Amino acid sequence: EPIIAPRRIQQLSEDVVNKIAAGEIIVAPVHALKELIENAVDAGSTALEIVLKEGGLKLLQISDNGCGIDKEDMAILCERFTTSKLKAFEDLQSIGTYGFRGEALASISHIAHLSVATRTKESSCAWKAQYSDGKLVAPKPGQSAEPKAIAGRQGTQITVEDLFYNVPTRRRAFRSASEEYAKILDLVGKYAVHCDGVGFSCKKHGDPTMGLSVPANAGTIDRIRVVHGSAVANELVELACESERWGFKAKSWISNANYSVKRTSLLLFINHRAVDSTPIKKAVEQTYAAFLPKGGHPFVYLSLDIDPKRIDVNVHPTKREVRFLNEEEIIDMICDEIRSSLGKVDTSRTFMTQT
Ligand code: ADP
Ligand code: MG
Repeated sequence: EPIIAPRRIQQLSEDVVNKIAAGEIIVAPVHALKELIENAVDAGSTALEIVLKEGGLKLLQISDNGCGIDKEDMAILCERFTTSKLKAFEDLQSIGTYGFRGEALASISHIAHLSVATRTKESSCAWKAQYSDGKLVAPKPGQSAEPKAIAGRQGTQITVEDLFYNVPTRRRAFRSASEEYAKILDLVGKYAVHCDGVGFSCKKHGDPTMGLSVPANAGTIDRIRVVHGSAVANELVELACESERWGFKAKSWISNANYSVKRTSLLLFINHRAVDSTPIKKAVEQTYAAFLPKGGHPFVYLSLDIDPKRIDVNVHPTKREVRFLNEEEIIDMICDEIRSSLGKVDTSRTFMTQT
C-alpha cells in the first residue's frame, strides 16, 4: 500500500503564476530599480533622477527624459510579455537593448503599487495611470481606470510604492532600509560610471543632500571620481583589447600598481548590462596579486561587448548572469593586457629610481 495517495493536478491561477515570477525577478528593491534604469536608458534618456524612501521599500521613483510611452500603449504596458523590444525568439541573438522580455513592469505591478506618468514628443500633454496585477486600476473607488491627462514634460516617471506589500514574508525579510539603500547607491554608481552621456542623481526623499550626482557631460574618469573618489580616479589606466576570433571588444579603466585597497571593486558590464562574474573577478584578482602588496586589491571597470550570437543573456530571470562562448580565452586576453599595463608602470618606476 503506498503511503501517499495521488493528489489531483491543477493549473495554477494566472495570479499565482505572476506573483511567483515577480518574486523571482525582483528579490529586493535594487532589482526593481535596475529594470527601471535599464528601461530609461533604453528609452534614450540623458537624465535620470531617482528618489527613495526606506531604501526603496516604501518608495522608488525614477524620472527620465526619454522618448515616453504612447497613450495607446498604456493599457497593455504592464501586462506580462508586452514589449517594444523583441518580436521573434531569434531577435534574442541580436538584442541591443537592456530589456527584452516585457516582464519588469508586469512583475512590479504584481508586488507593489505602481503608477506611470509619461509624455511623448508628439503628445500635447502627459498621461498618468495606475496599475495593479498587470492592469490599469482606478486611483480611487468610483474613479476611472483610464489614463488621465496631466501637465508634464517629455519623458517618463515611474513610481513604485510599498514593494512586497502583498508578500509579507518577503517584506519582513528586510531588516534594514540603509542596507537596501547602500545596494541601490552601489548599482546607480555602476550605471553612472558606465552610461556615457547620461546624467544620474539619486537621493532619499526629503533629504536636501544628494546621495549621488553625475552630470550628463562628465567623462569616464570624472564619473569614477564622483562615485569612487579622487584616490582611485588619480591612479587609473585605460585599456582596450579585442579579438575577432573570440567575437569581443573590451574597454576598461583599471587602477595602477600604486593603488591598493582591502576589497576589489569590479564594475563589470557585458553588452551594457551590469552583471557579476566570479571567473572574471578571480582572474583579475590573481593578475593583480603579482603587483600589489599582500592583501591589496584593485579597482576595475570593465565593459565587454560580446557578439550577441555568442552570448546567452537568457539564463537567469534577473539577467544578472550571462554565459558566453570562449569565456576562458577572453578572460586570458584581458588579463594579459592588464599584466602588461601594470608591468609597464612598474618598469618605468624602477627606471626612475635608478637614475
Ligand atoms: P521590456 O523592457 O523587457 O520591454 P518592461 O516591462 O521593462 O519590458 O517594459 C515594457 C515596455 O514599456 C518597454 O518595451 C517599453 O516600450 C516601455 N517602457 C518601459 N519603461 C519605459 C521608459 N522609462 N520610457 C519609455 N518606455 C518605457
Ligand atoms: Mg525592461
